[in-house]
Amino acid sequence: MIKRTLHQIQNMIKVENELISFQEVSIEGVSIDSRKITQGNLFIPFKGEHSDGHRFVEDALKKGAAAALWQKDVPNPPTNLPILVVEDTLLALQELARSYRNELDVKVVGITGSNGKTTVKDMTANLLALEYKVQKTEGNYNNHIGMPLTILSLDENTDIAVLEMGMSGRGEIEFLSKLARPDVVAITNIGESHLQDLGSREAIAQAKLEIIEGLNENGGLIIYFGDETLLREGLSSYQGRADIKTFGRISTNDLYPVELETNQNGSTFKINGVETEFALPVLGAHNVLNALSAMLAAQYFHIPFHKMNDGFSSLKLTNMRMELVEGKNGEKIINDAYNASPTSMKAAIDLVSNLPDYDRKILVLGDMLELGEKEKEFHVEMGKYIDPEKIDYVFTFGKLGAEIAAGAKTIFSAERVFSYTEKPSLIEELEKYTNDETLVLVKASRGMKLEEVVNALLK
Ligand code: ATP
Ligand code: MG
Repeated sequence: MIKRTLHQIQNMIKVENELISFQEVSIEGVSIDSRKITQGNLFIPFKGEHSDGHRFVEDALKKGAAAALWQKDVPNPPTNLPILVVEDTLLALQELARSYRNELDVKVVGITGSNGKTTVKDMTANLLALEYKVQKTEGNYNNHIGMPLTILSLDENTDIAVLEMGMSGRGEIEFLSKLARPDVVAITNIGESHLQDLGSREAIAQAKLEIIEGLNENGGLIIYFGDETLLREGLSSYQGRADIKTFGRISTNDLYPVELETNQNGSTFKINGVETEFALPVLGAHNVLNALSAMLAAQYFHIPFHKMNDGFSSLKLTNMRMELVEGKNGEKIINDAYNASPTSMKAAIDLVSNLPDYDRKILVLGDMLELGEKEKEFHVEMGKYIDPEKIDYVFTFGKLGAEIAAGAKTIFSAERVFSYTEKPSLIEELEKYTNDETLVLVKASRGMKLEEVVNALLK
C-alpha cells in the first residue's frame, strides 16, 4: 500500500494550506472509515448528505492515523495537527490514486461488463498469480471510491493489478479507466442492468466500451465477448488502437470452448487449437466464458495455456455467486442471491436445466430491479423462458416475481407455479417439495435479499 511522507503526499495532490511542521510524518495506507484505521493511515473524510466524516478526524488521528485530509468548505479545521486542506476530499482521493498509479511500475488489467466482472477479476488474478505478484480489487470495490482505494492499497513491488470497474451511467467507466490506465481491458458481456438509466442496450454497450479510452498509450490488449454484436460493432471505431482478442461460444472468436461439459462441480472443456482439458470448479457454462476472458489476459502476459488448470483449481468466487450448498432436507441449493438481471437469470436457469442427476428441479426467482419501462415484459418473458420439461416447480417472490409466475403459467400447469410476497410462507411451502433428490436455484436482485430463503433452508 502507499507509503509516502506527508511532504510527498502534498506534492501528489493539490493542497490549500501550508504545512511546515509535519512534513516528515510517514503515511502508510489510506482509510475512509475512522473505525478501520490502522497505524500510519491517511484518513480521508467525506462530507455526505447525512453524515460528515470530518467529525471523526480527531478520533482517527487518536486511533493511529498519521494525518488526515480536510475539505475546504468544512469550517474549523483543527490546528496544530497533520491536516491537509483540499478543495474536495473525494477528488483528492482520486487524484492521489492517479498520482500513485503513475509512480508505480505496475501493469494493470481493467475489467468491465454487465455480468461477471468480479468473477473474471478473480479468475484473471488466479491465472496471473501463477507467475506474477498480483493484487486485485477486494470484493466488489469497483466504483469511483473503491477503485482508487484499491489502487492505493497496491504494494510498490506488485507486478500486475487486476481492477474491476463498475458503473451506473455514462462517463463513469471512462473516468475510472483514465485513472487506472490499464494495459489490458476486458469487457465480459452486455446485459440489461442499468437499462433504466441508459435507455437501450446500445447505450449500455457504449458505456462499457469507454474502458478503451483509458487504455495505456503503449498498451496493450482489448478483450471482449465476440458473440455480442453490439460490442463487435462498437469496437470497429477502435480498430488499430491496440490488439484485439475475442472470446465466446461461436467459432469465429479467437478463443472458444470445445467439448464443453457442465456438471454439478463445474465444467470441463478444451479450447480451440489446444489439447489440454481444463476443469473449472465453478458452476455454469457462463463461467466458462468468464474463464476464456481470463485466459486471454493471462496469455497476453505469456502464461502458457497448459499451465492454466493450476490457476483454476484454486478458484474461490466471492460469496453468493452460484454457491452450491446443502439444505436440511438433503436438497442441493444453488445460492445465486447476490444479484440478477435477465442475462444472468437465464444463465442460471440454463445451468439448472442442464444439470443431470436430480429427480426434481425447483426455481425460486425474485424481482430483477432497475430494468426501466419494460420491466414487466422482461419478467413475463423470463417465465416463458423456463422449460417445463426440465424444471419441475417455479416459486416466485415479489411483485415483479409474480410476472415471472404469470409467464410460466402460460406453459406450466398451475399447480407447478407458486407466487409469494412473504418469505415465511414461500419457505414453508417450498420445504414441502424438497428432498435429497432436489436441486433448488435461488436468484433475484440484491435488494430482494433472497439469501434469507437460502438461510432458512440450510441445515
Ligand atoms: P456487479 O455489477 O454486482 O459487480 P459483476 O459484474 O461483478 O456484478 P459477478 O459478481 O461476477 O458479476 O456475477 C454476478 C452474477 O452474474 C453471477 O452470480 C451469475 O449469475 C451472473 N454471471 C456471471 N458471469 C456471467 C456471464 N458471463 N453471463 C451471464 N451471467 C453471468
Ligand atoms: Mg462485481
